[in-house]
Amino acid sequence: MSIDDHFPHLARDADLRRAVRNLCKKYDVAYWDQQDADQEFPEDFFRDFADSGFLGTLIPEEYGGGGGSTSDMVAILEEVGASGGGLNACSTIHTPLLCAPTILEFGTEKQRAEWLPKIAAGNLYTTFGVTEPDAGTDTTRIAMKAVDDGNSWRITGTKVWNTGALRGDKVLLLARTSEPGPTERRGLGITLFLADLHAESVEIRPIPKIGRNAVASCEVFFEGTKVAYEDVIGEVGQGFYHLMHSLNSERLFVAAETIGLGRWALAAATQYSLDRVVFGRQIGKNQGVQHPLAKSYLDLLAAAEVLYRAVDEYDIKGGAAIGALANAAKYLCSEAAVSSTDAAMQVFGGYSFAREYHIGRQWIESRLPRVAPVNNQMILNFIAERTLGLPKSY
Ligand SMILES: Cc1cc2nc3c(=O)[nH]c(=O)nc-3n(C[C@H](O)[C@H](O)[C@H](O)COP(=O)(O)OP(=O)(O)OC[C@H]3O[C@@H](n4cnc5c(N)ncnc54)[C@H](O)[C@@H]3O)c2cc1C
Repeated sequence: MSIDDHFPHLARDADLRRAVRNLCKKYDVAYWDQQDADQEFPEDFFRDFADSGFLGTLIPEEYGGGGGSTSDMVAILEEVGASGGGLNACSTIHTPLLCAPTILEFGTEKQRAEWLPKIAAGNLYTTFGVTEPDAGTDTTRIAMKAVDDGNSWRITGTKVWNTGALRGDKVLLLARTSEPGPTERRGLGITLFLADLHAESVEIRPIPKIGRNAVASCEVFFEGTKVAYEDVIGEVGQGFYHLMHSLNSERLFVAAETIGLGRWALAAATQYSLDRVVFGRQIGKNQGVQHPLAKSYLDLLAAAEVLYRAVDEYDIKGGAAIGALANAAKYLCSEAAVSSTDAAMQVFGGYSFAREYHIGRQWIESRLPRVAPVNNQMILNFIAERTLGLPKSY
């Protein structure tokens, strides 16, 4: 029996999970430690993942994908997170998929036919360019402007934290094309573009980060960058609302990745508590060591149950409850991952600081989903307002 046998949700999509685990076995913790230390994009993992068909899971078969469900993708990302690859591995594959739902839903048939098969095959690496230096949580404050010069759009402005830009081919950019009227919503007048990251007018500078370093996150400067009319996605002026459409599935993906991360930390710490002898006995014999691990298990168990409830709501019912459930799942899973990696750090004692034990890398990574792609305070705001009926606070 392993700890995994005590997570009932792992019986879902069992064959798929097994296949992902088999692929991930080739890329062990030492591999991810090296990629992270060298700040090297994991090309071989990414290629393997794409060639195995996992990357295109959610893209319909007619566009070269696997035609799978959200449940499939969530299971895949959870297993990648649990493999020891953590968020380095998850972000590698999650990033190019971020724009696929938007293209699928709002793109033209020509755009879908041109881009989705390439994304599914791993031949077009797309990134997500929303955040700016002065517009993080409040996306509608973006300063990036797109101007129609009569032949095409010209984009000027700066994106920050653009994950994968160094490796990327194209970026899904959110830019303002008009100002909303005084009584209109601030989300109006924002448009989505698929812009070329290789253009001469684009400068990319990686941000030195404290973790998840196999995938660079970058400042990206656009100076009058040309984007063809045919590379606008959806309706001009409606981009912010188009993007909102894909947020629930993204929350579920992040939730799954963090459950995976937490499972890895719990298993590693439990094993270490059996191996490590202090005062002549295993440290795992102490209740002070056992209880935080038991609590991690319970936190992950409860969070995973909410996640898969949300997945079913999304896939089967597609119902009105999905907003609250997807937010709840993202909050509970990411918080469970933070507490599980933190408890694991204590179990590893001084060795938690040795790279050799890998827990420190996962501990740092576990902090990231608390703030990105949406911070957990905004989720509490959502629950306070939409579930509890309290006044909007921002
Ligand atoms: C490693 C990494 C990778 C990323 N990758 C991408 C990417 O690929 N593409 C992209 O577009 N962005 C990316 N991001 C950006 C990320 O989405 C933003 O950092 C996030 O949206 C928060 O924005 P901010 O950092 O400007 O925080 P701010 O908006 O400055 O907020 C700071 C803190 O204030 C609090 N806060 C703010 N408003 C409220 C409120 N109303 N109520 C309560 N609390 C509040 C929250 O605790 C929040 O964490 C990435 C970030 C990181 C760190």
